[in-house]
Amino acid sequence: MRIVDIREAAIPLKSKLANSSFDFSEMTTSVVAVITDVIRDGKPVCGFAFNSTGRYAVGAQMRERFIPRIMKAAPDTLLNANGTNLDPDKILAVMLRREKIGGDAERSIGIGTIDVAVWDAVAKIENKPLHAVLAERFSGGKIPSSVFCYVGGGWYWPGQTIKDLQDEMRRHLDAGYAMVKMKVGGLPLDEDVRRLEAVMQVVGFGDRLAVDANGKFQRDEAIAYARALAPFKLRWFEEPCHPLDYALFAELASIYAPPLATGENLYSTQDVENLVRFGGFRAGRDIIQVDPPQAYGIGQYARTLDALSKYGWERASMFPHGGNQMSLSIAAGFGLGGAESYPGVFGDFGGFADDARIENGAITLSDRPGIGFEGQANLYKIMRELAGL
Ligand code: MG
Repeated sequence: MRIVDIREAAIPLKSKLANSSFDFSEMTTSVVAVITDVIRDGKPVCGFAFNSTGRYAVGAQMRERFIPRIMKAAPDTLLNANGTNLDPDKILAVMLRREKIGGDAERSIGIGTIDVAVWDAVAKIENKPLHAVLAERFSGGKIPSSVFCYVGGGWYWPGQTIKDLQDEMRRHLDAGYAMVKMKVGGLPLDEDVRRLEAVMQVVGFGDRLAVDANGKFQRDEAIAYARALAPFKLRWFEEPCHPLDYALFAELASIYAPPLATGENLYSTQDVENLVRFGGFRAGRDIIQVDPPQAYGIGQYARTLDALSKYGWERASMFPHGGNQMSLSIAAGFGLGGAESYPGVFGDFGGFADDARIENGAITLSDRPGIGFEGQANLYKIMRELAGL
């Protein structure tokens, strides 16, 4: 058994959306195919992944460093002890050879995306859904049939009215979701509060609504928003400031009682550990949102969860960023608090399997082997063509 090829293609997201800090008009993502020599139904088993959304394609690093290291390794050294499947930990270690410690974001996205594609192949070779494989290895075998899922929405777009925003949130609730998130920080505070009040009329309770400032605020504005938002008792206030400004996070945690959230822009276990050591993040209250394909992948995510558990953090406080089937599988397999969803945005890269159902705020899981991209027709077309299937 061996990997015969690893391919990458940069695909544009074609999104007109914007948050408080940037728009997505030039955004691309790396789609990766890990092609094995295992044959099922006459075709090679291939693992797929993409580097989520919000960071650009990273094909250069993959082609110059990570893919050649894997392809040069003796195939037997990348297998599990019985030689019956690929070993993702061994493949991760090979990708990290000759990499200097620190500077994680320069490589964590490329490595993490290849890692998740390897896990997709591993689960397909086991002929099980990835969430089942992860549950067996990392969650005591507890395999859920659905996962709590909220909508990351409420974007800013040109010409948008308050009624448009309310209609969007109504659509999400009508679709079966029980919690939504909206952007803040793209307008002056008083106008953002008016948007928030309008959405509160639709959702009814603060614990059904989160807000996301995408790291926009300096200290004064972050504190002003925290004071204005506190009475709404929101589910969480996400990325009020720069993701590495742990002193400001700690200050906000001291004046803002409802939950804070961050993590989608932390790329190493050490960064996340620093957040809880120095950022004032409160176990049992605040939310951590690491995006595993952007942060060295699934094996490293397991190590991040272990590191957090030493500080009293439970998996219910973890909501992986991403809004795609990779985060959904990871949320299910590790027994996390829930997953994010981006229905109807990010083109072929948002959303879940075409036959997934949302009921009472939870999304059903498929029993397709692997991550299940095969059930997402438009996205799978891109992946299939990349792999030459
Ligand atoms: Mg966010």
